[in-house]
Amino acid sequence: MSEGRPPVLPSDVSGQKFVSVYALHAGSLFLPDREVFDDALDSDTGSKVPSFAFLIEHDQHGKLLFDLGLRKHGEGYPPALKETLQLFTVDCPHDVADILQDGGISPNSINTIIYSHLHFDHVGDLTHFPAAELVIGGPAAEIMEKPYPRYPDSPWQEFPRHQTVRYIHFDDGVVRFAPSRNVAPLGSFERGLDFYDDGSLYLLDAPGHFPGHLAALARVAPDTFVLLAADCCHNRLCYSPGERLISRENYHDLDVARETVDKVKVMHRLENVVVILAHEKERLDEMPLFPKALNRWVAAETGKKRSR
Ligand SMILES: [Zn+2]
Repeated sequence: MSEGRPPVLPSDVSGQKFVSVYALHAGSLFLPDREVFDDALDSDTGSKVPSFAFLIEHDQHGKLLFDLGLRKHGEGYPPALKETLQLFTVDCPHDVADILQDGGISPNSINTIIYSHLHFDHVGDLTHFPAAELVIGGPAAEIMEKPYPRYPDSPWQEFPRHQTVRYIHFDDGVVRFAPSRNVAPLGSFERGLDFYDDGSLYLLDAPGHFPGHLAALARVAPDTFVLLAADCCHNRLCYSPGERLISRENYHDLDVARETVDKVKVMHRLENVVVILAHEKERLDEMPLFPKALNRWVAAETGKKRSR
């Protein structure tokens, strides 16, 4: 990407809609450094990191979740993941459904679930959300053609039988997603979808880590955004300041993933954007968690950037 003028995000319009965003700590896992940093391929070190899910609330369109984090106690995954789960030592005493309920929100009130991608630490347990429609990146469809248990060795859990699923295909200019919307560049990202068609929430094509990997950009206050960057990278040092390269061990398409990280870096440099990775461990202490909303915190963080 050229290091030209920084991109500008769409301005607020009159009567601009915002969303409320809440971070949920949906379990933790051990992440080996060799999966995170390219300079740590030979290391045995690693760290315990959170898996964040996000509740996003719109006053007209209701509640959605961006990712579901881990399954409770790491149970109920396809057997093909057994070794992976041991390596990553999943710790999830309360899953997303528990956390919502503790905060007085019924899982039945969630009308949409967006998966950034289909890895085990993001898909959680869909069966808690029977009323929700699932939204995923189009390239993930192929992976779900051979799910567990129909394919006993598959690491991909079949979706519940009556699950409605919408795939977002970004490739052809007009997104194949009902109702049909235009895809437009958004900040440093080439393809963004205005999810509610009012500028409050955008889904971004953020490829590289996994087929169809999505990020989300939420407008949480006037000219103030939070970028939920999911697994574009797995540690803050990869985007801020960004001196450590992402590992060749953990990305479906490494070159594309590195381009995506460059886009995250550009967004991070914008003074009206705060980035949160799904496994950004520092954020656990820095940001408020559900039932507190992130909006004020994001506004305060962007305020610090603006005053520099
Ligand atoms: Zn992950």
